[in-house]
Amino acid sequence: MRKREDARSTKAFAEAKLVIPGGVNSPVRAFKSVGLTPLFMERGVGSRVFDIDGNEFIDYIGSWGPLIVGHSHPEVVEAIKKTAESGTSFGAPTELETEMARLVIERIPSIELVRMVNSGTEATMSALRLARGYTKRSKILKFEGCYHGHADALLIKAGSGVATLGLPDSPGVPESVAANTITVPYNDIDSVRLAFERFGEEIAAVIVEPIAGNMGVVPPQPGFLQGLRNLTLQYGSLLIFDEVMTGFRVGLNSAQGLYGITPDLTCLGKVIGGGLPVGAYGGKREIMELIAPSGPIYQAGTLSGNPLAMAAGYVTLSLLGKPGVYEELERKSARLEEGFLANARELGVASTINRVGSMICPFFTDKQVTDYETAKTTDLELFNRYFAALLDNGVSIAPSQFEGMFVSTAHTDEDIAATIAAHYKALKQ
Ligand code: PLP
Repeated sequence: MRKREDARSTKAFAEAKLVIPGGVNSPVRAFKSVGLTPLFMERGVGSRVFDIDGNEFIDYIGSWGPLIVGHSHPEVVEAIKKTAESGTSFGAPTELETEMARLVIERIPSIELVRMVNSGTEATMSALRLARGYTKRSKILKFEGCYHGHADALLIKAGSGVATLGLPDSPGVPESVAANTITVPYNDIDSVRLAFERFGEEIAAVIVEPIAGNMGVVPPQPGFLQGLRNLTLQYGSLLIFDEVMTGFRVGLNSAQGLYGITPDLTCLGKVIGGGLPVGAYGGKREIMELIAPSGPIYQAGTLSGNPLAMAAGYVTLSLLGKPGVYEELERKSARLEEGFLANARELGVASTINRVGSMICPFFTDKQVTDYETAKTTDLELFNRYFAALLDNGVSIAPSQFEGMFVSTAHTDEDIAATIAAHYKALKQ
């Protein structure tokens, strides 16, 4: 691998900063936490991305999760092109939206009705409004280190203590909004129980990433999700699974299928858009029918159910429905995990790898990572050096220890072998 060039990306970033806050349209893209200049991308094909300096990388960001069939998959591209020729948006219903809804409902049995929106943020924000409207309660409970998009009520950091009422995580989030968000540690069912004992009659919903993907990858411990189901039922609160990241990523029936838990509402995004801007929320008919126009809870969108997005998402979900797809993803991801572990052992680097299917996250620690606190105590400085060394060896991962790697159907066995070799060199460096 030749030394990575970055002259053009550096220049492009400087220009972008003159007209875009921080030079990017979403903060993590700026590479700020790893102290590097972001790569400006030119194109992506299959498992590879190419930046404007002519560098090629095996990509494990996959647009932060959506690209489970790889970059510019020919069938996805064809569907987008064909759809665009007949019009890009109507602001009127199309049959494709019904087909898409049917497919989602078929795959996720807890969803009886589904509403399309344009992002994961919109999905969680709308699901919260619905939960509050349905239960006529105000408080919500979320978990420290879980990210559910940037709606005010969800941008809340945990304070210290077991069941704290939130403080705003960002200027601009009113304290009155934050006061309705209770935050407790992930995988800590005792804290959830305490929170319910204290605030139970006021809690509209518990929102959770059934596999946490925004503190690295942190799987639910046995009994945690079932515990949430039991407590929400006991107190008449709704259980919302935020499957924006895990939806159709960890299996055809998503995380809820994997763990056998039935939430009341599910939020989707990323994979269902096939790389175009989509989110969705769905659940029990009785609850979903409260949404306008069938009910009084308002939620709308000029571009919701957009034909191009529906076409890209529909083809992506169809490709995932072919036999053996998830088994193959599992096989390749397991190989990656084994290779990383063998490298770390050989080089004497402390490494814990969390993985569920094609979501995989190596942490630099010899301890288990089960929540945000333990994720934060891993060697973050070492991660930053590792990240830069991986890029120099032709592998692109998210510029943060608190994000996983996404394996796609486009990654070949050769890609996996090359990634394990790059990981070895990076650890050695
Ligand atoms: N929920 C989860 C679990 C996510 O990972 C994300 C984004 O990373 C969101 C919600 C927000 O989705 P979006 O960025 O599409 O608004």
